[in-house]
Amino acid sequence: EGRWFAVRVAPLGSHGLVLVLAEDLTEMRRVEAIRRDFVANVSHELKTPVGALALLAETVEGAADDPEAVRRFAGRMQHESVRLTSLVQDLMTLSRVQGDEPLPDLRPVSLDEVVVEALDRGHVKAGAKGIELATGGEDGLKVRGDADLLITALRNLIDNAVAYSPENTRVVVTTRQCDDGYAEINVTDQGIGIPAEDLERIFERFYRVDPARSRQTGGTGLGLAIVKHVTTKHDGEVTVWSKEGSGSTFTIRLPLLHPPAGRQTPHSQTA
Ligand code: ADP
Repeated sequence: EGRWFAVRVAPLGSHGLVLVLAEDLTEMRRVEAIRRDFVANVSHELKTPVGALALLAETVEGAADDPEAVRRFAGRMQHESVRLTSLVQDLMTLSRVQGDEPLPDLRPVSLDEVVVEALDRGHVKAGAKGIELATGGEDGLKVRGDADLLITALRNLIDNAVAYSPENTRVVVTTRQCDDGYAEINVTDQGIGIPAEDLERIFERFYRVDPARSRQTGGTGLGLAIVKHVTTKHDGEVTVWSKEGSGSTFTIRLPLLHPPAGRQTPHSQTA
């Protein structure tokens, strides 16, 4: 690896003295490399559905006198369009939450509402696999935040729990008030689990344990990166516990809007 420096030499006055300025470029180069990788990844991910669409359009043209084939190819075109749309949507969400600026318009948000809204769409996918979606825990917890972003984050965790679980299992979403002034939302599945060596990396953009499986389930590879940035922007965090072959629990922790007396969270201090 090594470190990189930019060195500038400037003469100082007329006595032959020189000023040597050394600037450490290591971090700048690292950030630049990450940005380049990301752009390369995005381009690659966009190319796949766009290429498939072009090819399908050509094939449909050639099959004009075979209505059954046309229907089949049209279905696959629709599938690729949906994939493209999710990717663009996730990229837009990510660009909203990964910058340094604070989120505008934070309001009191009820976690009950976040859970209900996040589960809404999950029921369809879960139902198709015979997966039971259950909820439980404490009602009435409130945080300060952006409801849409919190719903998106929880939806990503629920979508993953369903996508990476076998048929006829259970996914449970629970809320809890912690002693330290934080609220917790847990999403527990009985799915394939995540190998220990991958746990640290799954929150990176486009990191997938099994790329083939992720594509097959329609994943963009950005879901957990979005969850991480949304929770960080809310002064919270996301953690994961997992055991290969038995399942995973993802936990979102957020500062409570009204922490129990004597407890201070970042929000209650500034309120
Ligand atoms: P993807 O769109 O691929 O699901 P994510 O960012 O949401 O992207 O997740 C990254 C990777 O983490 C997934 O590809 C998968 O390998 C793993 N993963 C996420 N959630 C789960 C889960 N509940 N069970 C098992 N593996 C998971």
